[in-house]
Amino acid sequence: MTEIEEPEVGPGQVLLQVSAVGICGSDHHIYLGHHPYARLPMVQGHEFCGRILRYGPDCQVKLPEGSQVVIEPLLRCGTCYACRQGRYNCCESLAIFGVHRPGAFQERVVVPEYLMHASDGLEAAVATFAEPLSIAVQAVRRGRIQAEDIVLVLGAGPIGLATLLACKDLGARVIVSDVMPSRLEKATALGADQVFNPERDDPRVIREYSEGGVTAVIDAVAVEPAIKLGIEVLRAAGRYVLIGMSGKDLPIPISTVVAKEIDIIGSRNSSNLFADAVALLRRNVGKVEQIISVSNGLDTLPAMMDYSIEHPQKVEKMVVVL
Ligand SMILES: [Zn+2]
Ligand SMILES: [Zn+2]
Repeated sequence: MTEIEEPEVGPGQVLLQVSAVGICGSDHHIYLGHHPYARLPMVQGHEFCGRILRYGPDCQVKLPEGSQVVIEPLLRCGTCYACRQGRYNCCESLAIFGVHRPGAFQERVVVPEYLMHASDGLEAAVATFAEPLSIAVQAVRRGRIQAEDIVLVLGAGPIGLATLLACKDLGARVIVSDVMPSRLEKATALGADQVFNPERDDPRVIREYSEGGVTAVIDAVAVEPAIKLGIEVLRAAGRYVLIGMSGKDLPIPISTVVAKEIDIIGSRNSSNLFADAVALLRRNVGKVEQIISVSNGLDTLPAMMDYSIEHPQKVEKMVVVL
């Protein structure tokens, strides 16, 4: 913890008083020095909400000062191939607050006005979960999930649980897989139709529940046994959406993928879906409250970072309220 200068507010930018910030799995990787491209020192924190303190010059000022907003933490170039396809979340020059630009592990942060989304009426800690939900909303769009789907969600960490909420919101049936019984209990409480523990259960559980196989898999773990299981229980013409990150190249059963004509789809942060994530959050406040754990005071952040790294079975999503 250190004192720094208050940031300058440039044209089109807004100075925010940070109200709450989530600690993400990728924050753990950055903090521990394992992240593939983040470099320290950097003020982390990409899941945040705050109050508008002051607008810089040349802003549209759609919301009054004092309004609470959540931030879509992606800066893009707008001109590369991905951006021209409307897929700025994978911009070739993407910069993420808290990863490539100073984020919200601080009291005040400057953001472009166009990245703000109104989050009035939501508790600050709950509002920060819009960012993880935006990843889930993107995954269900990429996987073309509909009401008639039976989806296997691999991993019941915060992103897996967010994906569960996004799938249920569309009316799909969902099986959630995880090796931690406490996480499966949470998944059941949040509406999972069936849970599966690969260390304890036979894959027949999935086949029987889905009457022959799931129509889509959303993989939030990216480990070899999970991929093997997911491809095996996927029906022909199914979709396999990868949101989990791995530092390793993992084998994929190619002949099964070809024989079943499976779509393997990468998915990451969302493009043009952040408002949908905020709306999904508003429909699921009670459930999001069951996913987050709250700690009060920015000075508790270093200890909460260590605690959330050391006790993944005790805390799904730690949020620090300033
Ligand atoms: Zn995150
Ligand atoms: Zn771009």
